[in-house]
Amino acid sequence: MDARAEAQKKLNSVRANLVDLSHKIHANPEAGFDERKASSWITDMLADAGFEIKANLCGLPTAFSARIGKGALHVALCAEYDALPEIGHACGHNIIAAAAVGAGLALSGVADEAGLTVTVIGTPGEESGDAGGKILLLERGAFEGIHAAMMVHPSPFDVLTPQIIAASTFDIRYTGKEAHASAFPEMGINAADALTVAQTAIGLLRQHIRATDRIHGIILHGGEAPNVIPAHTSARYIVRGRTLADLENLRLRVYRCFEAGALATGAKLEIIGGDRPYSELVHDPDIAALYKRNSELLGRSFARAEEEKHKVVASTDMGNVSLCVPTIHPMIGIASLPAVNHQKEFAQCCVTESADRAVADGALAMAWTAIDLARESRLRNRLITGG
Ligand SMILES: [Zn+2]
Ligand SMILES: [Zn+2]
Repeated sequence: MDARAEAQKKLNSVRANLVDLSHKIHANPEAGFDERKASSWITDMLADAGFEIKANLCGLPTAFSARIGKGALHVALCAEYDALPEIGHACGHNIIAAAAVGAGLALSGVADEAGLTVTVIGTPGEESGDAGGKILLLERGAFEGIHAAMMVHPSPFDVLTPQIIAASTFDIRYTGKEAHASAFPEMGINAADALTVAQTAIGLLRQHIRATDRIHGIILHGGEAPNVIPAHTSARYIVRGRTLADLENLRLRVYRCFEAGALATGAKLEIIGGDRPYSELVHDPDIAALYKRNSELLGRSFARAEEEKHKVVASTDMGNVSLCVPTIHPMIGIASLPAVNHQKEFAQCCVTESADRAVADGALAMAWTAIDLARESRLRNRLITGG
């Protein structure tokens, strides 16, 4: 039997287990870098299928690698499995994880024959926004020797090459001084006013930024009581730009706004994090073309995405991988509209029949794409030589 047919047969035989895995991860949402159950369920499943497991990869307790085959072309399948605070798997990372495992299992019996080494890399903490799991794994060498990297990410509809922009997430802390807000206000330093000034400055800055830039944040702590001048306030902000270069320039301008808050009120400012941003994502056009063909063979369509892809703009640490290794990061549709990512309604859509089909289709489309990469000699040679 040909390798593609064999991969499909294997996928069909494990489909129910993949759906179980997806639903189990979904029912047990774990925050970034704390995904203990998910990573152990996944590694157990891959170990049972003969994969060589490295747990605690690069010193990250919930990261892992699982490798099979000894072929010349080394393909990585990235699995994310972190959830969002309060709204659980509202980004559908349970589907990402199960699809990556499915692709790995589909390839497990044919890797050597197809000329592939296959590694499922478990990448924690994608939603953290700064120093995400893939950034730490890249820094620590987990992607060395990998020739191509793939993952699929759920979204309302299929998008082959979504626009993925650079992003930096950081925390702001202001420290002022408490005082009775009515009796001795002149003795206080108002850390909440510092945030107000900063937010006003950011509001005014919006006139002067590029249409492709984004600035958004939340107040984490705004004060203790209305009759106490707030001495401690904090916020978390995300700044995004089309590329790392755009982002760097904008990030420094936003920092100035927070400095303005400190200057105006006398509160002390600390900025924490933000120095390991997510980069823009460069989609490898050849790998993407193969993935498209394979997805369409499974009955999926990218027609809608052509109109909408420039409207859907997000960020991921897979961007950083893409600057080092030829990468694809297609969005796989789960027919969730009107629910969209990061809504609790979307979380409910991540365990439907459509979601389960996305697991199987994403897995098989990636497995077939890996086999095609190894077969097409021009492409295989480009990937292996890094040309
Ligand atoms: Zn997300
Ligand atoms: Zn996500």
